[in-house]
Amino acid sequence: MLNESTTAPAKPAGKTLFVTCPVCRMAPGVRCEDHNGIEVATHRPRIEAAAPELAVMRLTRELAAAQAASDKASRARAALPAGSSRAKVTTANARWARAAEHRDRIAAELDAARVRATEAK
Ligand SMILES: [Zn+2]
Repeated sequence: MLNESTTAPAKPAGKTLFVTCPVCRMAPGVRCEDHNGIEVATHRPRIEAAAPELAVMRLTRELAAAQAASDKASRARAALPAGSSRAKVTTANARWARAAEHRDRIAAELDAARVRATEAK
């Protein structure tokens, strides 16, 4: 279960309560609850379901960070001196591949979020 701090909303609730929460399944008009039935800050997926442009904004930021991390891993891999051990090369390759996959995943999520934001208009 995600803890509350990682799902704190970018913006307080308002129109966001018009959708069923994808996290806690609270119905429209009912505030989000944790698994103990205690009211919590509105879950981010619920806010983003009601306002898809917020997901686009978040994913745009995340994509920039993921791209930077991928570029950094790529540079680190390229900077390995000739004669580096196989273990170092393998590790650098794996880090780079993982960073690139993460970036691609976020790019795909961003595309999907843009489609939802466009459809919502
Ligand atoms: Zn919720």
